[in-house]
Amino acid sequence: MPHPRVLYWFRTDLRVHDSPALHAALALEPQCLYPVWCWDPHYVREARVGPNRWQFLIQCQRDLSASLTRLNPAQRLLVLREAPGTLLPKLFKEWAITHLVFEKDTDSYAAQRDAEIVKLAQEADVQVITRTGRTLWDPAAIIKENGGKATMSLTSFMKASKNLGDPPKPLPEPSSIPDPGDLSLSFLNTVPPTVIDLNKLHRQKHDDESYSALAGPNSDFAPPTLEELGIPESTATTPHQGGETVALTQLAKLLEDSKFIATFEKPKTAPTAFEPAATTLLSPHLHFGSLSVRRFLHDVQRVTSAYKGSKSQPPTNLPGQLYFRDMYFAAQHAVGPAFSHTVGNPVVRYIPWHLPSTMPPSPTAPYTIDSPRAHAWFLRWAWGVTGFPFVDALMRQLRQEGWIHHLGRHMVACFLTRGGAYVDWERGAEVFEELLLDHEPACNLGNWMWLSCTAFFAQYYRCYSPVAFGKKWDPHGAFVRRYVPELRGFADKWIYEPHLAPEAEQRKAGCFIRDLEDGGLLPLKTQAAGQVYYPSPMFDFAERRDFCLAQMKKAYQVGLHGDDPRVRDGTAKAELFEQVESSENTTTASTHKRKRTRSTNEAGPLDGWVKKGKK
Ligand SMILES: Cc1cc2nc3c(=O)[nH]c(=O)nc-3n(C[C@H](O)[C@H](O)[C@H](O)COP(=O)(O)OP(=O)(O)OC[C@H]3O[C@@H](n4cnc5c(N)ncnc54)[C@H](O)[C@@H]3O)c2cc1C
Repeated sequence: MPHPRVLYWFRTDLRVHDSPALHAALALEPQCLYPVWCWDPHYVREARVGPNRWQFLIQCQRDLSASLTRLNPAQRLLVLREAPGTLLPKLFKEWAITHLVFEKDTDSYAAQRDAEIVKLAQEADVQVITRTGRTLWDPAAIIKENGGKATMSLTSFMKASKNLGDPPKPLPEPSSIPDPGDLSLSFLNTVPPTVIDLNKLHRQKHDDESYSALAGPNSDFAPPTLEELGIPESTATTPHQGGETVALTQLAKLLEDSKFIATFEKPKTAPTAFEPAATTLLSPHLHFGSLSVRRFLHDVQRVTSAYKGSKSQPPTNLPGQLYFRDMYFAAQHAVGPAFSHTVGNPVVRYIPWHLPSTMPPSPTAPYTIDSPRAHAWFLRWAWGVTGFPFVDALMRQLRQEGWIHHLGRHMVACFLTRGGAYVDWERGAEVFEELLLDHEPACNLGNWMWLSCTAFFAQYYRCYSPVAFGKKWDPHGAFVRRYVPELRGFADKWIYEPHLAPEAEQRKAGCFIRDLEDGGLLPLKTQAAGQVYYPSPMFDFAERRDFCLAQMKKAYQVGLHGDDPRVRDGTAKAELFEQVESSENTTTASTHKRKRTRSTNEAGPLDGWVKKGKK
């Protein structure tokens, strides 16, 4: 039998170290290997991706391409600009492919796409080989062990994974790879029609031109540039760099500090730490697969077992963090596409939030503005101008750098949903989808459900204070000063509540605290040339917390989940929550001026273990 001609499809695995799928491809002893990336219009236009994540992806692709060339000077990453559904069948024919190999991807869109590709491959007589490598365990195997149910707690996840044994040991990097075959392309690319483009706002130069030619404008199969996407390079402001080389260097550096690795306890790491962050900051690399999660776990376990002192344990230690990641992947796999929203989702509680999703889902008009005030709050949250310095610092760090600490994510997610603005968690998840470098659908959605107490976690009475929580970690406000520079001049006493500073203190600090114009939606008008302003708080936090607590209590009493017929047909809110809605509308917007003296109530950082199988 002639040697196989393999098309290796890179997607979630932008690396050459510990890649089970690449290993399987090479085990075929192929006559030729085509390392392909399909520039899929779904991600380019229908997923929310900001400039920072585009840049990170392009860096990962360039680094991978260089690694492939290192393993064989005739090789490079072949970036082809077309949807896989139309492109791959043409490539099977053009390059006489016998085998298609890829890493398994259980995200909703990917799972559906891959099922279609497998069918197309079968029709073309191409054998398909897939391997799990994105997670420690195969999500499908975890769910099978969990009796077909979603893993809604780490306890149930750990039990299921225990039955499957330890994750396989990492595989070595290949020492060489075969040549590609003939790279000629006798067909033109099918240019995708722009039905929707969720990233249009970022394209300040021109519309997306990344589909101008199948192998790129220079016919060299290079990854598109930000310029080709119409995105100015200056808008990619993150200091975090993509690529396997960076990831492995970062991991090696972390492993040198065996005490950090072996005694890591997430709740003790500060959300206010920067340069360096208090946690590993490896999540973007796990997302793009520029770091293997098995390699990360294995290296951590190796360093920890050699460590002589007392060691931290799951769920707060580093392996525990990776188990959480796998838990969300498995839960998403069990629930399927409904995992990304409330309606139709059996594991999520129904809460009549403001700005609910449009049903049926509409990517161009994703939500209903049922309250202009809540909409203004949402926009102020997204742009970091809430008037709560700790929240604003976190949201600005997210926008500038694409990453914030886990407890920072707790703070801003709680504040937007059940601990302040009472806005639908799906709105927050969309903003994170756009801005995070590490945006991982399963983890993002799952954590938003956790923080909004709609699934995974139910202690809605534990709420983060935007003042006390920041102060606890960073009493001098260095983090706020870094990301909200207009507040730099305030003394420590005022840094978390500058609106309480007397006018003379504000003058001394060189920044005046004023209400935003037009009920809080428009930016501050410059009231005096050269003068710096920062907004007053957009609401009275204590009052909002009490309001949200009452609503959450009511919603828990009603006890509906997303798959309830009244949630599905949209009658639940009017029938069961009418009174709640009218009391919300009578809350005044100007109460933030009153100083509240009652003590703040904070959640413990990791929120402990989750109750077993809570639905
Ligand atoms: C509202 C919200 C949204 C989130 N969205 C994402 C997301 O889109 N992608 C994402 O990877 N993480 C997400 N997280 C989880 C977590 O905040 C990040 O994984 C973590 O902060 C990444 O930083 P790190 O690499 O320094 O983490 P470390 O503390 O160093 O942990 C190591 C790794 O464990 C994994 N991990 C840690 N905590 C979690 C967790 N709670 N859930 C899932 N995985 C975890 C990550 O892969 C991380 O890189 C979200 C958390 C919240 C509260």
